[in-house]
Amino acid sequence: MEHKRSAEIFEEAVKYIPGGVNSPVRAFKSVGINPIFIDHAHGSHIWDVDGNEYIDFICSWGPLILGHSNEQITAGIADMVAKGTSYGVPTAIEVEMAKLIVDAYKGIDKVRMVNSGTEATMSALRVARGYTGRNKILKFEGCYHGHSDALLVKSGSGTITYGVPTSPGVPADVVKHTLVTPYNNIEALEAIFNEQGDDIAAVIVEPIGGNMGLVPAERDFLEALRKITQEHGTVLIFDEVITGFRIAYGSSREYFDIEPDMVCFGKIIGGGLPVGAYAGKAEIMDMVSPVGPVYQAGTLSGNPLAMYIGKKQLEYLRDHQEVYKELEEKANYLAQGIRTHLQDLGLNYHVAQAGSLVCLFFTDKEVRNYEDAMTCDTEKFNHYFQALLEQGVLVGPAQYEAMFLSTAHTKEDLDKALVAIGNALRIAHN
Ligand code: PLP
Repeated sequence: MEHKRSAEIFEEAVKYIPGGVNSPVRAFKSVGINPIFIDHAHGSHIWDVDGNEYIDFICSWGPLILGHSNEQITAGIADMVAKGTSYGVPTAIEVEMAKLIVDAYKGIDKVRMVNSGTEATMSALRVARGYTGRNKILKFEGCYHGHSDALLVKSGSGTITYGVPTSPGVPADVVKHTLVTPYNNIEALEAIFNEQGDDIAAVIVEPIGGNMGLVPAERDFLEALRKITQEHGTVLIFDEVITGFRIAYGSSREYFDIEPDMVCFGKIIGGGLPVGAYAGKAEIMDMVSPVGPVYQAGTLSGNPLAMYIGKKQLEYLRDHQEVYKELEEKANYLAQGIRTHLQDLGLNYHVAQAGSLVCLFFTDKEVRNYEDAMTCDTEKFNHYFQALLEQGVLVGPAQYEAMFLSTAHTKEDLDKALVAIGNALRIAHN
């Protein structure tokens, strides 16, 4: 496969953009090759600027549940553009979108639009702090909630630690209120709450960890989390930037039947346009300006084009909820196919699946948390990734990313991908 044009663009890109990309994972740096540059995409397929075609399992990292450039979703967008791209004063479509989200997510009353998942989580934490009058927040090791200072924190090796900034530029003073504890570990959770529970404003959690590969929360862990936060008057925030409207129409709230106090959404509710949102019960959300004293704003928040595409995708999903079963069946088929290859090759790697998400971990360990995920053989993954790309299959260029399925993926796509996966596993283990 030739990547001549991509290489030329990349050479130019690094002159003007740090690392040549606008988000680090796109650089393909962790898999040791240069990135491909995309020309266009349709359905489950994506084409690079050299004309190479790939079956796409990135799907823009989640939002494209109905595949790329789905005409049912994009129809009419040109008319919207012709009417104007942003007004800075309210539009009816923002209200329709808010109603759709509130109706879909049981237990929330009000929602505020922002422009990204990062903004959503950052704002939700501010509101939870304002609401409780407390400063501390708790997150889990391996969960990613965007790149705001307070959440860019890693923890010590599997122990309960105080925040240590993961990135230069994040002052230790800012993250001193961020506590970190292992995912899926009730004992550690109880220990930290016994010690400091009444000072914790909010716990933020990915109900299905999608940023350390794919690690679903165990039901008893989420139940314990709900119970302990209620006992301590701590706001429980579900970060559904990956799971919202993807794992079920009612999101993780429906999937686990556990109700958080607040929820954050991101890319998915924009169907590929830049969007985020945070939501919660009226009592909490009425803390937000201009009703309450907690300030949060955005010039482009609720942008009409993003609302248009996002609303059409959500309406489609609302009216065709059978797609969730279909997506799960496809993901199951893919996961089972991968397991069969592993068995044939005498490999005992862990394959995780939840709804339309699949992840092949290059480790024999069952992955329940960040520490388990860290046992993966990333070098072998890199060979595997490159061999997949060469065969026209695009997965996230890092071990710790899930494969995203869409309704556009056909059985033929999955069978082709499975043949490539079998070959790539063989190549990686030669
Ligand atoms: N939260 C989760 C669970 C995410 O996966 C991400 C991004 O992938 C974010 C927050 C941040 O979203 P954004 O990249 O839109 O800022």
